[in-house]
Amino acid sequence: MHELAVTEGVIKVAVEAAGGRRVRAIDLVLGALSTIVDDSVQFYFDALSRATLAEGAVLRFRRVPATALCLDCGATTEVAPPLPDGCPGCGSSRLRVSGGTEFLVESIEVDDEPG
Ligand SMILES: [Zn+2]
Repeated sequence: MHELAVTEGVIKVAVEAAGGRRVRAIDLVLGALSTIVDDSVQFYFDALSRATLAEGAVLRFRRVPATALCLDCGATTEVAPPLPDGCPGCGSSRLRVSGGTEFLVESIEVDDEPG
């Protein structure tokens, strides 16, 4: 369960970025191949954000698809796990995951007034 650690990181980032203002919402990007479970993040967030400026903030998850880059023809393809055996364009098996593993804070919304 590494959601605990990543959720601590999300709160830290959001509170620092808020600069003393209350955090209303946090937009998170979650890749299709990420092992992060959004329900778990929400669970830890509710517990860990208590008594911080992020308490009560809404978590919004934006899911991004996994992509694979073909090392032979250079095509980037949207893929769904498990990865395909070959590039849909040229059939090469030399595919590298190029996206979809990310989990990051995309943006936050804060109150206009400090405090
Ligand atoms: Zn290819």
